[in-house]
Amino acid sequence: MSDTESVTPITLQATPTILLAEDDPVTRMLMTRFLKNAGYEVDAVANGSEALDKMTSRYYPMLVTDWEMPQMDGIALCKAVRNMQLDGYVYALLLTARDAKEHIIAGLEAGADDYLVKPVHEAELIARLNAGRRILALEHSLRVANQRNRILSITDALTGAYNRRYLMEQLPREFERCRRYGYPLSVLMCDLDHFKQVNDQRSHAAGDDVLQQFASRAQKFIRGNSDWIARYGGEEFLIVLPETGYDESLIVAEKLRQLIASTPFPTRAGDVSVTASFGVASTGLQGPDLALHVETLIRAADESLYKAKMAGRNCFTGQELGAPLPRAAHG
Ligand code: GH3
Ligand code: MG
Ligand code: MG
Ligand code: MG
Repeated sequence: MSDTESVTPITLQATPTILLAEDDPVTRMLMTRFLKNAGYEVDAVANGSEALDKMTSRYYPMLVTDWEMPQMDGIALCKAVRNMQLDGYVYALLLTARDAKEHIIAGLEAGADDYLVKPVHEAELIARLNAGRRILALEHSLRVANQRNRILSITDALTGAYNRRYLMEQLPREFERCRRYGYPLSVLMCDLDHFKQVNDQRSHAAGDDVLQQFASRAQKFIRGNSDWIARYGGEEFLIVLPETGYDESLIVAEKLRQLIASTPFPTRAGDVSVTASFGVASTGLQGPDLALHVETLIRAADESLYKAKMAGRNCFTGQELGAPLPRAAHG
């Protein structure tokens, strides 16, 4: 994955760490001790704003908060937490001395998942925290499933490269970022040579093996943290090289050409030697100028690829789509 599509690993702690907000020092100490004895890690603070500070520095899956506290009370804290972008769901339990229905409703509407009326009955608190853990576990598995679906939806099943849909989504973003920050962007259109013959002579399945290994060889070769590869069509791939100017991308194309041509691909029908042709297109060194569109860049790579095919295959051609750099006037 490129850094533009950052996927943070989703982990669920066996025992979630609880952030406890309670202004009364004695209650805070007793609750902390009790929760720790029950096996929880506990960070305790004295009011809502301290709790918010803690929340911004790390993710706490569980929040146990008093209602009445100075500076920021439990209601304001729950509301604030629900407006934060956090790494996962926060299960919020509100402790309150107010047991009137309208208070309970106000607490739940502020974003608390549950409430307990003080003085807290310890066994009940543990039972309610256990219920909260079940909800956290469900939310976690839902997030993992969503992330897996997201990855599947942007990945080509055969090669593991990004699919065309992702390319069409991500390349324009990458392009606009280059424009904004003024750095170059290059794309390499790669097409396997006479690939139809591989299928005809060695079987379609062996052809699949070649495609799969082509992608993985290219993937290992490019810079993992910024460059990325997408399957553009059948045996065509587009490699995106952010922050890479024309001269540098020609070097990449030539090295990749050699890497493909030099070593045969082992397939289920034996070793297969293949070559590939490359079409390079780059923005100028200062990034895409205002008139340049991402479609133009792709088309230019395609044209270059066609020229490489015409020139006999197993080679590359390229073009730079930047305005020429202004030259210093002499004399
Ligand atoms: P050129 O050097 O001009 O690119 O010749 P070529 O034979 O590679 O080009 P052509 O476009 O005529 O054929 C592309 C072939 O790629 C035909 C098609 O069956 C094959 N192909 C496309 N997708 C797949 C795939 O997923 N698996 C396999 N095995 N073959 C595929
Ligand atoms: Mg209080
Ligand atoms: Mg082709
Ligand atoms: Mg081909």
